[in-house]
Amino acid sequence: MRLFAPVEELKGIGPKTADTLKKYGINTVRDFLYNLPKDYENFEKPVSISEIRPGKIVIKGKIDNLSMRRAKRRNLSIVEGIIKDKTGSIKVAWFNQSYRLKQFDKEKEYFFLGNYELKNGRYSLISPSAALVSDIDPSIGLNPIYVAHGSLKSSDFKRLVNKSKSIFDEIPDFLPTVAPGIRKKALFYAHFPNSAESIKKAHDYLAYEELFELILAAKLNRRENEKLKAISIPFNLAKIKDFLRKLPFTLTDAQKKAAWEIFQDMEKNTPMNRLLQGDVGSGKTMVAAISAYEAALSGVQIAILAPTAILATQHYQNLNSLLKSFGIQTVLLTGATKEKKDIKERIKNGNIDLVIGTHALLTDDTIFNKLGLVIIDEQHRFGVEQRQKLALKSPEGLAPHLLTMTATPIPRSLQLTVFGDLNVSVLNQLPKGRQKITTHIIRELDAREKLYPVISETIAKKQQVYWICKAIDDNPKSETTSVKTRYEKLKQLFPRAKIEFLHGRIKPAEKDRIMTQFSDKEIDILVSTTVIEVGVDVPNASLIVIENAEMYGLAQLHQLRGRVGRGSVASYCYLLTSGENRPSKRLQELEKSTDGFHLAEIDLKMRGPGEIYGSLQHGALDLRIATLSDTKLINRAQNDVLKFLKTPENLLQWKELMQGITKYQQITTLN
Ligand code: ADP
Ligand code: MG
Repeated sequence: MRLFAPVEELKGIGPKTADTLKKYGINTVRDFLYNLPKDYENFEKPVSISEIRPGKIVIKGKIDNLSMRRAKRRNLSIVEGIIKDKTGSIKVAWFNQSYRLKQFDKEKEYFFLGNYELKNGRYSLISPSAALVSDIDPSIGLNPIYVAHGSLKSSDFKRLVNKSKSIFDEIPDFLPTVAPGIRKKALFYAHFPNSAESIKKAHDYLAYEELFELILAAKLNRRENEKLKAISIPFNLAKIKDFLRKLPFTLTDAQKKAAWEIFQDMEKNTPMNRLLQGDVGSGKTMVAAISAYEAALSGVQIAILAPTAILATQHYQNLNSLLKSFGIQTVLLTGATKEKKDIKERIKNGNIDLVIGTHALLTDDTIFNKLGLVIIDEQHRFGVEQRQKLALKSPEGLAPHLLTMTATPIPRSLQLTVFGDLNVSVLNQLPKGRQKITTHIIRELDAREKLYPVISETIAKKQQVYWICKAIDDNPKSETTSVKTRYEKLKQLFPRAKIEFLHGRIKPAEKDRIMTQFSDKEIDILVSTTVIEVGVDVPNASLIVIENAEMYGLAQLHQLRGRVGRGSVASYCYLLTSGENRPSKRLQELEKSTDGFHLAEIDLKMRGPGEIYGSLQHGALDLRIATLSDTKLINRAQNDVLKFLKTPENLLQWKELMQGITKYQQITTLN
């Protein structure tokens, strides 16, 4: 069997099925074997209907009296029926699964697994999964569930792997660091479990394999990076001292240390690859400014890339006013920039030292004369390709020094794996005089009583308010309050306040105008979508309201909250929730803690790494099996990778492994 043969070489897979599979990234036999069940239903211990209690249950019975109706409220279809066994009968209901109406043979017995609960005044089994009893091996009772891909349902995948059952024995070993034969066993039992224990063993190996690949990729990337050449930027003590003397504040110790680490990296003629990690408000921009200044002194050009035009503009305003007096030429380059051609000409001729911009910087016609340092703010907002594009803009044969910055702290486990021992500087200290941000969760229903008075007070003190909404326009299908509706409501409630709104569809020039007004304290309340999420720095804003807070991830909420607490006054964050539900664990954690590191660890455990690193890298980082919070397994894989790398022949011998990790190398490059 050839693992990399096209998937249609497998039994039962014709051209049509193959097409569907390929659409979902299952191209080869190997991809097919690694398309593992996402879960297993356990039908081991069905209960008799006469004995069921509310909660999760498994029953075995026949189904009849199926009918479908539409609910009046919302656009909901409901399929209902009656399940019977020897001891009794219960009602069953599925929501928006109209295919259930035709799925069952009323003569046959099925397992049903779902929640038995009170709905509309009576107990029913709600949206259970179902499997033909004759399809399930009675001694095992475990039913693998595959993710449906297009027209291919879980049961189709079951059928197809069954047809290929015999090839599992031919699967070759993949890693030299484990006992021979483990891999084929693991893959076999992942698809054909014979006990819960067999699933666990299979997953243990597959998780290890995955971490091994990821760590190996990261380590190889690091080696690659060390082979590259960069322009050495000498440390200029006198000029830097002078620069620091002229700043309106003294650097925190953490800022000094980070700057020092960067200077040392940039002196080398291998490119720096450093991540500056600092919680919101810790002063990363100043570290970037000093690094840029140092680089400009040596005659190279610097590019600073920001994820939004608002942020790029703000960086430009701050850095330009700071660096101009030191003779540094700075320009702003965003989609809205006029005279782009002229500016690009000056960049190309080397008349510009520092270019600050958005994606507009990445176009092929932005050519640098001597790009020596690239700084990427909020790096997780950019895709790998975008970052690579910028790195390619340096002179022939050279790579720029790279400083990436993030406010989303990276848990240690990720640093070791995805980030492959990347060099990290940490700003673990906030500038002096900062006050804590107090966070409260309140229901929207209670806002009038609890929140509005606080807003009035804040405005009366001439401090400013952000109000964050999920959507720009109203949408009848969703319960969110839009920017526009909220804006109107707030205008009625606070007629004397100056209120403006901001969102992604507003023209860039207009956005800039509003942000500048807000910065200049001419606006009291800014109603906005998350366009202000990253980086925006208005120290006089001391209150942020996040509406529909339950709809955001922890990292994102922390970022949003970081828009306040940037000055010397006490700041507040109100998390508004709609509906009656108790606040989620996520919101409770946020209420308790303002420590970004702590929150990132929790987020990683609760939602996995994809969520932390934003949508651009999402998916790419979604590991099949391994959890990146499993530090024990990570350590083991880490040690084994180091051993593996000690024997250079390994890289040639273990071909499948080397071929497979290119995907991970992509993700881990330039992180
Ligand atoms: P972030 O790390 O979130 O990007 P910023 O770089 O935007 O933070 O800095 C937040 C604020 O703190 C800015 O207004 C900046 O001028 C100010 N700041 C930075 N460093 C110091 C310092 N050492 N002392 C006082 N204020 C500082
Ligand atoms: Mg910032």
